[in-house]
Amino acid sequence: MAKDPVTLRAFRRYNAYNPKYFPVKFLQILFENLAPYFSLWMSSEVVTALYRGGHRRQIYILIAVTLAGNLALRVLSAIFKRAADTQLQILGIRECQAFNAKTLSLDYDKLENPDIHRLRRRITENSWTNYYGVKYMRIRIEKLMESGVNIVLCLGLFGEMISVLARRALTPLSAFLLAALAVSFGLNVASRFFFASRLAAAYKDIGWQMLDSDRIFRGCAVSGMDSRIYRQQSLITELREKLCRDHYKGFSRFFNISMALSLPPSVTEAVCELLSYLIVCFYCVLGVFPVGSVIKYVGYLGRMTSNVGSFLAELNQFKINRPFLATYLEYFDVPNDMYQGSLTVEKRSDKRYDIEFRDVSFRYPGAETDALKHVSLKLKVGERLAVVGMNGSGKTTFIKLLCRLYDPTQGEIFMNDFNIRKYDYREYLDLFSVVFQDYRLLSVSLGSNVSSSDRWNTEKAEYLLEEVGFGERYRELPQGLETPLYKDFDEDGVNVSGGEAQKIALARALYKDAPFIILDEPTAALDPIAEAEIYAKFDKIVGDKTAIYISHRLSSCRFCDKIAVFHQGQIVQVGTHEELLADKSGKYRELWNAQAQYYTEKPGDTPKPHCRAGSI
Ligand code: ADP
Repeated sequence: MAKDPVTLRAFRRYNAYNPKYFPVKFLQILFENLAPYFSLWMSSEVVTALYRGGHRRQIYILIAVTLAGNLALRVLSAIFKRAADTQLQILGIRECQAFNAKTLSLDYDKLENPDIHRLRRRITENSWTNYYGVKYMRIRIEKLMESGVNIVLCLGLFGEMISVLARRALTPLSAFLLAALAVSFGLNVASRFFFASRLAAAYKDIGWQMLDSDRIFRGCAVSGMDSRIYRQQSLITELREKLCRDHYKGFSRFFNISMALSLPPSVTEAVCELLSYLIVCFYCVLGVFPVGSVIKYVGYLGRMTSNVGSFLAELNQFKINRPFLATYLEYFDVPNDMYQGSLTVEKRSDKRYDIEFRDVSFRYPGAETDALKHVSLKLKVGERLAVVGMNGSGKTTFIKLLCRLYDPTQGEIFMNDFNIRKYDYREYLDLFSVVFQDYRLLSVSLGSNVSSSDRWNTEKAEYLLEEVGFGERYRELPQGLETPLYKDFDEDGVNVSGGEAQKIALARALYKDAPFIILDEPTAALDPIAEAEIYAKFDKIVGDKTAIYISHRLSSCRFCDKIAVFHQGQIVQVGTHEELLADKSGKYRELWNAQAQYYTEKPGDTPKPHCRAGSI
């Protein structure tokens, strides 16, 4: 890890989530592993005492010390295990929070960027499917600590054995036997190292295969409805069987490699154990070691080889995990480079915030064409602007730029004569209430959803819910504003329909009471009656705010002061409904006529608002 900057950086970040975890875990591992060594040590003392015909009292004392020591170590290890488990929970929660906090703090353009989206997906997939990433690193570190503790304990005893031999039997023969033991031990370490690195390389290939096939598995986890309607069951089963066969082929190759590679370390380990027995028994017979040492030394020497083996294997596991950690760090390294601005947004009671787009063009990251082209438009305070156009004509992009979720690629947007980039970003965002097409409600209480906070003004929230047409349903809710939405976190949660959710989202936008209210297809999920009700109340609801209303349903835009018609990323017409309709060759009239076939009125007449137009 020391020579591995990626793992080291990832460790520092991970450890910072809860710096208590690893020290506590280390103490747990220490006491857990000391217990068997202590027992072995004391057993060897008891056997030696028995062999020497020791006093009965002395033997009882030894047995009592063994039991008491063992008990103490096990109690300590249980206490530290409890503490480590708690700290692990905290670590896991903070890791999750850090990941979510990074996602929430990303500039919006980064959040939507497909490369960053892929990065985030890879991290979660790796972590969920194979534990690769920081969790894998944690497990490796714990294993390293365990084998490290055992190696230190073994070395202590090995040192004791050598010092006894050096003091009491330093002969050419003992030197030769120790040298042979050292050589076979060295060979064992080398063969284990080789084994571990080759195995890691082989596993790496298999590991990637596992990830890929896992993705395909989920890729073909089709909807239950589709699979039944289109009789896709056998197609899916066949695909999965093929994947399993490929999967198995990959693994059986891996198992063969693993078996072949495990032979040399097993042979050298057997030689080590044989030599240990020889040395210990030989010098025991000569009276250099007490008889109980056979238990102690042979047991320890055997463990030494296996612990060194696992230590090396764990070190190699870090190599496998390195690319996953690199991905993890890459995500945290994504910079937020959107200019934040510093100009204070004036709090105006008259809400005089005039907006102007000056020759604005915009291209999404990675896109080949501009989503907006040379858009120029002025928006006056208190105005009702409708933005209409076919799907994909740039309406939502226009709003995203207005709210500074993206900055224009070309041109500028001004508010009260200053480029909006100059304003403090957070203060600027506070000017807008938006109901996006893909709005989301949270699985928290209705009140929290409306107020975007855990506290709310009950009277205001209830009034707004009533105004947006949620009143009847609201009165049915058992806990009023305290009612949890959805069942993710609460069994008593209430599921709301798409239309009801849209009404709550509208109430949320109005509760914010921002000078600008922007509604992107705000009634798409509403039934015709609810839609008509909202339109009837729209002026009252919006009050003196500046409202921008996006729709491809032209009938719903007639009440606006100004209508901007978008086509292929450009504003092709601006005017009132009557003015635009009067232009016989204009896009607006073309769109109007295309929709009018769904209404009973002739083209040019006012369609009934409860008639649902088809999407153009
Ligand atoms: P509208 O709201 O009028 O339906 P949009 O503003 O959503 O249109 O889209 C305008 C154009 O930009 C479309 O061609 C759309 O495919 C493209 N677009 C929208 N969002 C993205 C995005 N996140 N990345 C790349 N292209 C996008």
